[in-house]
Amino acid sequence: MSTQTGYGYDARFKTIQKFTNLAIPQPGPDELVLKIEAAGLCLSDPHTLIGGPIASKPPLQTSTKFVMGHEIAGSVHQVGSQLMGDPAYATGARFALQINHACGVCNMCRAGLDGSCQGSYQAYGLNEDGGFQQFLLIKNLRTLLPIPAGVSFEEAAVCTDSVLTPFHAIQKVRHKLQPTTKVLVQGCGGLGLNGIQILRNYGCTIVATDVKDGVDKIALDYGASEFHHDLSKSAHASQSFDVIFDFVGVQATVNNSDKYIKRRGTLLMVGLGKYKLVLPNYTFAYREIEVIYNFAGNSSEQIECMEWIAKGLIKPNVQIVDFHKLPQALDDLVNNKVRGRVVFRPNKL
Ligand code: NAD
Ligand code: ZN
Repeated sequence: MSTQTGYGYDARFKTIQKFTNLAIPQPGPDELVLKIEAAGLCLSDPHTLIGGPIASKPPLQTSTKFVMGHEIAGSVHQVGSQLMGDPAYATGARFALQINHACGVCNMCRAGLDGSCQGSYQAYGLNEDGGFQQFLLIKNLRTLLPIPAGVSFEEAAVCTDSVLTPFHAIQKVRHKLQPTTKVLVQGCGGLGLNGIQILRNYGCTIVATDVKDGVDKIALDYGASEFHHDLSKSAHASQSFDVIFDFVGVQATVNNSDKYIKRRGTLLMVGLGKYKLVLPNYTFAYREIEVIYNFAGNSSEQIECMEWIAKGLIKPNVQIVDFHKLPQALDDLVNNKVRGRVVFRPNKL
């Protein structure tokens, strides 16, 4: 086999493209080829396609055509001459990828904040080739994070974003999460359901909300004490939540946060549903609301997330879908028909 099939972005079209006859990469001396064992589908993928928040503006959009898929886990398939015999990269060694290519030498990287690397804006599946194919060339070995025993490829794949991103946001306010802290989670999709599971370990009171049917039971099972489709029909008073996580990022959720956040409360913006939003300037100022934005996370946190999974502290909700059904799955995600996180296994055709 010398060619492979992949799905990706082509600037000329607004829908995902099927790329046939993609070359199977050959590694250079200090590179390796990863066999993709699992790749997750994120709502940021259609954002990329439609020129949404992630890909529409520089510096991320540097490529006009690339294989998508930024939640990636795989096994070593082939190594370059310099890596031959190195047990760390033995054939079959299991790795999850850090999505962004941290340079390792900028001030952010040196401080351990490599998710905010200032030296590189390359990111697998967001502006260069990613995981929606069978084999991916790894030029930057720093992006390879070993998967611990007890963590499946599917779990490790979704850990790269849909677990890591809420985890990273939650770490910023963990000192505020007491048993009496009232937390609102808006959006119980791929990210939000993992966010609830992570929060459960901090003992706070979690109220979840989502407009979609069929996620209420999952949210409650994962640790939410209540679920509401419409918070205004619940008994919660306005200005009654200490911390709010917005895993949607549309005007309706911002307006909800404005209504329900307490004085001196903290709002964590994670969802990228709209490129620009109107924040309630006066009421947030008057109530001294802290607003914290978030983007993915650091490699040390990603490693920690995998340890949480290995210890059974969280169990990501993974829905395995046949690789050839990817365009339909993307359509379902855009039309809000997916529950949990869709994961493909490109080498299990
Ligand atoms: P998802 O489709 O799996 O989940 C989104 C959920 O929001 C759905 O369950 C949907 O029903 C719900 N929702 C929609 N409108 C709502 C409303 N008005 N009120 C309450 N719930 C509502 O998507 P996902 O993959 O979990 O991604 C969520 C968002 O986070 C996307 O915008 C994505 O681009 C973004 N994202 C951000 C980062 C980051 O680093 N900041 C990383 C990954 C994804
Ligand atoms: Zn994502």
